[in-house]
Amino acid sequence: MRQSAYNNNIRRTILIVEDEYINQQILGNIAGEQYDVLYANNGLEALEIIRSLKTRLSLILLDLIMPGMNGYELLEILGKSDTLSRIPVIVLTGEKSAELKSFQLGAVDFITKPFDMPDIIMARIRRSIALSEDTYIIQTTQLDEVTQLYTREYFFTYARQQTDLDPDRVRDALVLNISHFHLVNEMYGRDFGDTVLRAAAGAISEYLRQAGGIAGRPEGDTFYVFADHRDSHAPLLEAIESAFSGLGSGARLRIRMGVCPGDGAAVELEHRFDRAARACHSLRNNYLENVAFFSNEMHERELYSERLIADVDDAIGQRHLQVWYQPKYAVQGSEPVLGSAEALIRWEHPQLGTIRPGTFIPLFEANGLVRRLDRYVWTMAAEQIRSWKDTLGVSVPVSVNVSRVDLFDPLLEETLLGILGEYGLTPEDLLLEITESAYTDNSGQVLRAVEMLRRDGFKIEMDDFGSGYSSLNMLRSIPVDAIKLDMKFICNITTSGVDRQLVHLIMEIAKFMGVPVVAEGVENREQMEFLKDAGVDIIQGYYFSKPVTPQRFSEIIKEAQAALRNGGQNAYD
Ligand code: C2E
Ligand code: MG
Ligand code: MG
Repeated sequence: MRQSAYNNNIRRTILIVEDEYINQQILGNIAGEQYDVLYANNGLEALEIIRSLKTRLSLILLDLIMPGMNGYELLEILGKSDTLSRIPVIVLTGEKSAELKSFQLGAVDFITKPFDMPDIIMARIRRSIALSEDTYIIQTTQLDEVTQLYTREYFFTYARQQTDLDPDRVRDALVLNISHFHLVNEMYGRDFGDTVLRAAAGAISEYLRQAGGIAGRPEGDTFYVFADHRDSHAPLLEAIESAFSGLGSGARLRIRMGVCPGDGAAVELEHRFDRAARACHSLRNNYLENVAFFSNEMHERELYSERLIADVDDAIGQRHLQVWYQPKYAVQGSEPVLGSAEALIRWEHPQLGTIRPGTFIPLFEANGLVRRLDRYVWTMAAEQIRSWKDTLGVSVPVSVNVSRVDLFDPLLEETLLGILGEYGLTPEDLLLEITESAYTDNSGQVLRAVEMLRRDGFKIEMDDFGSGYSSLNMLRSIPVDAIKLDMKFICNITTSGVDRQLVHLIMEIAKFMGVPVVAEGVENREQMEFLKDAGVDIIQGYYFSKPVTPQRFSEIIKEAQAALRNGGQNAYD
């Protein structure tokens, strides 16, 4: 049995509402030993006292038949108020028939007249107060105020209780999340945000009444549902979506759901919800689907990711992480001229084989490790530039990728300048590529970082241009020195008129911004010719060369030098 939180040391105040003086006196004498007692002669007087003291009153003893406002009328008024209905009411009555109606109006107990058993009266008063105080504590700590669903802690307490009571029942862990909820709050205000949360919670509770299960709101716009197993919980999403459309606002509200199906019941409860949460999270940028299941495959992927994270130190120490170089050519002259290179990381894992950066960079961006990785790549690139200067007598500028995460590093500038200093280089030697979406995700911080780097003399290329959502307004003021067309525009330019138009449009934008354009992912002569005619200045792609080892790149430089000696152009002016 749970212990009551009733504390004997507090002196509580109770109100006796009774029109007969003698009854007031008898009850007052009995209760007065333990309670401060106030008196009212009818409903109206009582209401005045109740309204002024509110929940400082621990209990009301209420006669039913009184002149003016009677007991029923008072009960009805109290029942309509959220605050006042919290005060427990014991009805004083001589008639059995009055009990049902009083219960329906919210009374918690009865004391029958005449008042000849003081011990029983005191016991009932005490029990009603204790019950109501306990319920209040439960309501305020177990239930989330906004949605009336369980808080995180109690959600798990009850979920565990359910599995203990009925361990053979198969249940699913569901995590639901409202997309871009912070924007809903910002654009429509917190009150509307709360309305949205309540609409979702209402639909969830309704669904669970039929489907069986419990729900909680552990935080923000996230809901946990522990429901009896079903092959599909799609009707839950439909119910929430229809509740959203019932709000009749212009807001575009989307809900997504991750499911960890019941067969993983051997896994600890919290972990099942973590898994459902990760499944839900995997839908973050997916605008087509709104349900994801935590599957074995997903589990395998997570183990793989953890393996990569664990192996980074070794990879750096044992040079399994290498930096390769892909040449960039200036194409507007009569012959393409080798002008610079992009440094691209490669991982030759002794057990897992070659791993593409597309696999591990996003992972390391999520946990911050990318800062170490990038610092390593920049250092290797700087060492290489130095070596080409010293051994081949040429300065080949190398562009390195700067992750969006680096832009939040307070030591970024110091790190980059430190590396240049160490190898006797200047900012002209190291170009910086920053992906367009970094600007749009968090423009304030990114713009500050970029401006600082440009003041130091670094040239900034906006990578993957066209994949983010820069507004024209933003582009006008954005600090960049070149834009790098996103590859996806290029793969179809020979077949798609739309893509050709887009390239022309981007060339116009670049002109408007006053910066040169680099195209990457150029694989064949047709693409090359089209881009050259469209006015693209620099081209990078398999058409010229895949990314290659530093040794092979040295050969490419030597070939370019030989061509130069045979009357070609100077590649590095
Ligand atoms: P990115 O910076 O846009 O790099 C260009 C990607 O396009 C490279 O892929 C390159 O190998 C590939 N590519 C170049 N030409 C062609 C072509 O003609 N056809 C095709 N199909 N692909 C071509 P990679 O090396 O796999 O790198 C993928 C992405 O990973 C990079 O995109 C960049 O965002 C990231 N990345 C690579 N190295 C680093 C690094 O050192 N640090 C950071 N933060 N990110 C890196
Ligand atoms: Mg790049
Ligand atoms: Mg790119």
